[in-house]
Parts: sequence; structure tokens; C-alpha cells
Amino acid sequence: MKYISTRGKADELSFEDVMLSGLARDGGLYVPKEIPRLSDIEFAALANLEYEEIAFRIMRPFVGQGVTENILRDCIRRAYTSFSHPARAPLVQIDHGHFLLELFHGPTLAFKDFAMQVVGQLFQAVLSMRNKRVTIVGATSGDTGSAAIEAFRGLKNVDVFVMYPHDRISDVQRRQMTTSQEANVHALAIDGDFDVCQALLKDFFNDFNFRDEVGLAAINSINWARVLAQIVYYVSAAVSLGAPYRQVSFSVPTGNFGDIFAGFIAKSMGLPIKDLVVATNQNDILHRCLTGHGYFKNATKPSISPSMDIQISSNFERALFFAHKGDGEVIIRLMNELQRGGFHLSHDPFQVLTDMYKSGRVSEDETQATISNILHENGILLCPHSAIGVRVGKSFCEAGIPMISLATAHPAKFPKAVQVACGVHPSLPARMADLQQRPERVIQLPNDSVSIQSHIRRNIAK
Ligand SMILES: *Cc1c(COP(=O)(O)O)cnc(C)c1O
Repeated sequence: MKYISTRGKADELSFEDVMLSGLARDGGLYVPKEIPRLSDIEFAALANLEYEEIAFRIMRPFVGQGVTENILRDCIRRAYTSFSHPARAPLVQIDHGHFLLELFHGPTLAFKDFAMQVVGQLFQAVLSMRNKRVTIVGATSGDTGSAAIEAFRGLKNVDVFVMYPHDRISDVQRRQMTTSQEANVHALAIDGDFDVCQALLKDFFNDFNFRDEVGLAAINSINWARVLAQIVYYVSAAVSLGAPYRQVSFSVPTGNFGDIFAGFIAKSMGLPIKDLVVATNQNDILHRCLTGHGYFKNATKPSISPSMDIQISSNFERALFFAHKGDGEVIIRLMNELQRGGFHLSHDPFQVLTDMYKSGRVSEDETQATISNILHENGILLCPHSAIGVRVGKSFCEAGIPMISLATAHPAKFPKAVQVACGVHPSLPARMADLQQRPERVIQLPNDSVSIQSHIRRNIAK
């Protein structure tokens, strides 16, 4: 299996090289050159299998020769042992024909664990085969950083540094990053906001001396290996509700478009998905685009669903690439226009996108009302992101076609917002109840690339 860049000017790479490099050298994102398809018989055979075996059969054709079947199986098995639910991604019914797909039973209580845990294991496997080390540096507003630390802690061939905005993330999010005791994990509290952390990260990747010296690698949501691991729960949910012999729809709380893009790949593999519904908060660039208003940046408005407070959805470039029939030149032009504010789509690509993706936008008040309604009707506490998915999913429910709304985080990760919405304080699962007592390990650094780079140099294993 070979991968090509959405901008058409970078080398074709194998799965392992795509995973280790993250972004293509022409600034584009890697996508598979062709998408493997499963027959109805192959999909039907998945219905009775455990999650890990479904993951193996879905991921195998994308991974190719560089990772043997045994290694892939082993990575997947190890990835999900840290999950607290035997089904990994259980379905719960909340209404007639409406289901919740619970993706928060991983170690950091958000769906990002599904991909990050596998990617950590695959990094370690490929790096030890090549006898190489890398330094992963990430910037986070909360969920990605904790998932990365949890996935890479204790791995031999990786050092991981995560920069987060000092004093600007929730207590639970910070403690999930600062309480790992493994020597290869480094939480860095940066004096500045999330944009400052992201700008620093960009500087590091553009400094080719530093990049090569420490073997910099990225695991942000544009990394193809993360998208790949997320295809699996679309398949596991659909086959347990009757696919391939019955259609299903999905509603997906969306920020960077990584999660819902995995749903597009599942559909392209032959899974009978009727609607893929993009659910946004008040930062609604995707909803505006899919309702004919073009793709134009606005200022980001902080919301009670902070993991979706994004104005440029980086993975949307992949959707645009498929909507423009793989024409890299057009993607380069559109991304240049985006730098200057945005662009309108021409007729045919707009048609392709709106046939594939439906969308809805949820206000702050509606998010709170949904949390409260679902608690009263079902006795279930939703996190604000999940509530947005449920709200929009409900509006697209159709008779005879199950709607599956993705619950992307545990309510205890966003306790203040949940309490304000419904008066109930969500408590952490028992296995994390001592989080507040665990010792923290963190270093505070100024917003200054030189001092952060020298901190990284001094602290990587030699
Ligand atoms: C990251 C995240 C999202 C958005 O996912 P994307 O892949 O960026 O669209 C939604 N909900 C939660 C809880 C998240 O952490």
C-alpha cells in the first residue's frame, strides 16, 4: 500500500514512513493511493468478533508489508489492554433508532485514546526494527497531549514532550499529563496560550537542524495512522446493528475533521453508511461550508466544548482532495486562498461533499439543554462534545436506519460545564479516583524557542 500527498508534489511513501513523518514535505497530507474494499461476506463475518480482531482485519490492508501480521496483531492487542470496557467501544440505546457509541473507556477518557494507543505501539515496533529513536513534540489544548503521554510513556525508542498553555487547561487534563512518572515523558507548561504553543511547534519543525538533530516526529491529528485506527469503531458499531445488510448513519462531534474522515474511509471500503453528519459547536466553519457559504475563517470563540474550538479543520484538506478527484494543483490553490481568508467551492466538488456529509450547528444553550434532557430521559451524563453529536444526530434520524452518535469524551473530563448544565457533578471512574493525590512532574518554560529547544536537547535519552 502506497500513500500520496493531497498536494501532489511529495514522494509516495509506505505506511511506516507516512506514520513517522506525519506531514508530507510539500505541506500536504498523506492519503492512501487506493482504498481497499471488503465484500459483504467479509463485513458480515466481523459481526461476531472481538474489537481487536476487527481492528486487525480493517487495518491490515492499509499497513502493507513493512509491519508483519504478527507485529500488527501484537500492537493492537497491547493498545487496548488499558481500556476499562471489554467491548472497547460499546453501544448504548438512547431512543428509538438512536444509539450512543461510547468512545471514552480508554486511559484518558476521550476517543483520542483509540488511535493514540495503537500509534504508540506501532511507533515502538517500527523504530525498534529500524534501530532508531525519535523525539515527539506536541502542542495541546488538553485531550491530545494526555492521550499522547499515556500512549508513549515507558516506550524505549521514543521521548515525548508535550507543551500546554500554563494555567489554561482543566485540572483533570493537566494532571493526566503531569502525573506520569516515566523518564521518557516531559510535560512542559508554557507561558502563553494554545496558539503560542502551536507556533512554537511550527518553529521547531521548520528548524531543520534541530529537527534532524533530535529526530522530531509529530502525532497530531493529521497523522494518517491515527485516522486509520479510527475507522475500526465505525465498522464495529455498524456490523453490530446489522450492516452490511442494513444501512446505518453516524453523527460525529467534529473539530479537526479527523474522526469523521475515518467514517468516510469506512464508507469507501464498502460499509453501508447512509449519512455522515458533521456536528459543530458555535465554531461552525464546516457547517457554513457544507450549507453553501464557502470555507472562510472566523475568530475562534471559546466554548464549553473546547476540543472543537477550531477555525481551520486540518483534515478537511483530505475531504477536499477526494471532492476534487485527487487534483493536487487545485488543493494548493485552495490552501493559498485559505491563508488569505477562505474560498468558495465550485459546483461539482460542493455536490460531492454535500452528498457525502450532512451537518448541523449547536449553540451553547442547546448543548446545555441536551445534557440536561438526556440526563432526565435516559439517566446518562454526556460531555458537552457528545451532547452536540446527539443533538444534531437526532435531527437526522430516519425510520429504519439506526443513527449512531459518537460520545467522544467522558463527562468527568469537563466537570464544570456538565455541572452548570444539569446540576450533577460527574465523578471520575474508580480507577482514576486518586488522580488528585498523584504527585505531579512538570517544568514551566517561557515562550521562547531557544530555551525550550535546549531543554529538549538536554533531556532526551542518548
Ligand atoms: C478531539 C476531539 C473532538 C474532535 O475530533 P476531530 O477528529 O478533531 O474532529 C471531539 N470531541 C472530543 C472530546 C475531542 O477530544
